[in-house]
Amino acid sequence: MTDDALRTLAVELPDGALVTDPDVVEGYRHDRATTVRPGMPRALVRATSTADVQAVLRVASAHGIAVVPRGAGTGLSGGSSAIDGAITVSTERMRALAVDPSAMVAVVQPGLLNAEVKAAAREHGLWYPPDPSSFEICSIGGNLATNAGGLCCVKYGVTTDYVLGLEVVLADGRAVRLGGRTIKDVAGYDLKRLFVGSEGTLGIITEATLRLRPLPPPATTIVATFDDVVAAGRAVTAIVAGLRPAALELMDAAAVAAVEAVRPMGLDPSIGALLLAQVDGPAGEAAAVAGCVEAAGATYVAVSDDPDEGELLMAARRMAIPCVERLGTVLIEDVSVPIPRIPELVAAVVAIAARHATAIPVIGHAGDGNFHPLVTFDASDADATARAEAAFDDVMDAALALGGTVTGEHGVGTLKARHLARQLGPDVMEVTRAVKAALDPAGILNPGKWV
Ligand SMILES: Cc1cc2nc3c(=O)[nH]c(=O)nc-3n(C[C@H](O)[C@H](O)[C@H](O)COP(=O)(O)OP(=O)(O)OC[C@H]3O[C@@H](n4cnc5c(N)ncnc54)[C@H](O)[C@@H]3O)c2cc1C
Repeated sequence: MTDDALRTLAVELPDGALVTDPDVVEGYRHDRATTVRPGMPRALVRATSTADVQAVLRVASAHGIAVVPRGAGTGLSGGSSAIDGAITVSTERMRALAVDPSAMVAVVQPGLLNAEVKAAAREHGLWYPPDPSSFEICSIGGNLATNAGGLCCVKYGVTTDYVLGLEVVLADGRAVRLGGRTIKDVAGYDLKRLFVGSEGTLGIITEATLRLRPLPPPATTIVATFDDVVAAGRAVTAIVAGLRPAALELMDAAAVAAVEAVRPMGLDPSIGALLLAQVDGPAGEAAAVAGCVEAAGATYVAVSDDPDEGELLMAARRMAIPCVERLGTVLIEDVSVPIPRIPELVAAVVAIAARHATAIPVIGHAGDGNFHPLVTFDASDADATARAEAAFDDVMDAALALGGTVTGEHGVGTLKARHLARQLGPDVMEVTRAVKAALDPAGILNPGKWV
């Protein structure tokens, strides 16, 4: 990045938006994919408005400078990790929010946290469902850019299902509006969906119109334990074949033990696996889920209509990744398979862990077939690192062999870049690159990651 470009940016941006102090920039280099080595950006821009983002992209286009969009940096794939000499654009200061209860929509800027959007909707008796476990620390912009999932997707869908409209700044600095505020809209290509999940490679999302729902009734929670994780996987397949719980989460014994070590909650680490299900309200669906897990061989089943107890258990599940990270360096998988193949996937992970003598605690949004085998190792041990990397590849191979995907919600980022081509194949990769070239011909947006 030339001094000339920096000078232009300094003139165009408001005071304090452009940062070159390496101590400050350092805090914006990493996301939460701890095995990804970030570059050193030349500058950080803390944008305050769409106009700021446009100014950055105009200058970057003119000078051929790479730009890395960044939300809250909680990504698990290295998507917002910095690039040498690039400009990192943080949206953390873009925080406008307006809820329109009559239209049941929220118009938001990308820097808001997911939890803040939920809280604002709740003030009107409304609900913004997408709920990544990181909902208290991740931004809505990051959620849109990764098409984030979470716990309630099994019944309520993922981020893209709640997007009515977007404002996006393109690589050349133009701001475009896609979609709008209507529930139905089939005018032209559904371009907003192209940007949702595009991981900062096609444009920077500067505003979104999000669909809200009425608040659901307090949940009833079903807890079930199993002798082993494959039996729990079979129970998930049986439940989802006929029922739609509002959440259906799995933790294996190692994940339960990791959480218990940090926050003891009375979870029994001697069990083989734990299933946590929630249904909306005290309806008969709770009994149906309990019946399913019993028929599938659960060793213990409990049903609670106490919302606080249910929330405590779900909070334990949300803590699993940081708790396992205390055991070593973690390569976080995000594989997803068709529902009937769930037992085969969890069995494959158990076999891969044994084959590579590597610990792989398993958690998952099981009702979606989306699992996070957490390949855990000592990064100071070269042999252990090589075994972990081989295990990481093998889990993705197993998912692909079962008709699945290498990423269900975290995105490709840099961590899974080389696996994407294997999943998509040459023709789809070519189409993907053609889309990228049409929207970002100079290749300045998040270059060198996966497209
Ligand atoms: C403990 C923990 C639990 C998690 N659980 C879940 C989970 O259950 N489900 C789930 O889906 N994820 C989960 N995540 C991953 C992460 O929180 C999500 O991917 C989240 O959507 C990232 O948001 P962010 O604001 O941190 O984005 P960042 O990490 O800053 O960026 C993510 C990607 O989006 C791009 N980007 C960010 N903002 C914009 C923008 N405005 N315009 C264009 N591109 C942009 C970046 O370039 C990058 O490619 C978890 C993470 C942690 C640490």
